[in-house]
Amino acid sequence: MPKATQTILEIDLTALGHNYHYIQSQLKENSRIMAVVKAFGYGSQDIVIAKELEALGVAYFAVAYAQEGVRLRQGGVQTPILVLHPQAVNFDIILDNCLEPCMYSLKILEEFIAFAEGKKQKKYPVHLKFNTGLNRLGFAKGNLQDIFSAFANSTGVKICSVFSHLAASEDLKERAFTLHQLDAFAEISQEIKKVLKYTPFLHTLNTSGILNYPQAHYDMVRCGIGLYGYGNDAQQSSKLRPVVTLKTIISQIHTLEKGDTLGYNRAFTAQKKIKTATLPLGHADGISRAYGNGVGWVQINGQKAPICGNVCMDMIMVEITDIDCKEGDQVIVFGEQATAEDFSQAIDTISYEILTAISQRVKRVIIRT
Ligand SMILES: *Cc1c(COP(=O)(O)O)cnc(C)c1O
Repeated sequence: MPKATQTILEIDLTALGHNYHYIQSQLKENSRIMAVVKAFGYGSQDIVIAKELEALGVAYFAVAYAQEGVRLRQGGVQTPILVLHPQAVNFDIILDNCLEPCMYSLKILEEFIAFAEGKKQKKYPVHLKFNTGLNRLGFAKGNLQDIFSAFANSTGVKICSVFSHLAASEDLKERAFTLHQLDAFAEISQEIKKVLKYTPFLHTLNTSGILNYPQAHYDMVRCGIGLYGYGNDAQQSSKLRPVVTLKTIISQIHTLEKGDTLGYNRAFTAQKKIKTATLPLGHADGISRAYGNGVGWVQINGQKAPICGNVCMDMIMVEITDIDCKEGDQVIVFGEQATAEDFSQAIDTISYEILTAISQRVKRVIIRT
């Protein structure tokens, strides 16, 4: 791997392929992967990720919002794309780009049916999402009769799949609650299958669900974080490979004498003579101010360098007193050794948050290892 010469987010498509094959190997026969590539592919590069997964034979994609699906289509992605959280204002671009909206309430269902009929659509694919306990988005079981009559009265739309989403699939202490959600989903999907003359496909698991509840793999699983190399617990993560590595370089080294202060608000005072390195990476790149003042750290030549003083918009300073390094040396913020999970734990958050926070200013570099 070439050394970084500026701040880059390296995206390893070989690691992505490894994760895809590992997850597929864990699935029940006949269950396939719907790759979740929302939020720019969890902060990486959605189009590159989607095209690689498409080449690997992924069955479906899911994005959160319609615009994310439009990006994929413009990038040449041809696989079906489920839009998890569509809004009526985007129905036009959904149709124009062959995106498949999730229907989560009677209101959006009525609106979409009227829209699809107005556009002379026949059997336009939609996906029904049921709330089984997350209480975020989804029909209630009690909506079933209204849903059936809406579909009976329209040829404009067709139910392509039925799904739900778990609240705590990563938390084995919540196993009873999760099993309750899975039972509720099983009941709902049974009722739907009884009424329809065709069989929509079923899916209800995210990454941790795939690994913790194999009895519910159904026809498809919605896998996000696992494809990017994280499994919500150490044992799961050990089977996966982090896809992205955030790297930067040392722009400048300073020597501070005892009593000198560092950075904005003079938040740090040297207690002795120290050396610091200034790095071209700040909160505008996604490193929250919460990582400042010794909370977060980076790796330089294999050693830990704590972030010193406040995180600036475009820079951080790290202490390197005992580290053998020079200006221009490479710095690893997170990646395969010190992972995004480790990095995010410093501020009590999760890998999902730091990954999706890496801003578009950071250059993306595609590699294969
Ligand atoms: C984001 C999302 C997923 C993917 O979850 P991971 O934990 O990243 O695998 C699956 N389903 C829905 C509804 C989501 O919003």
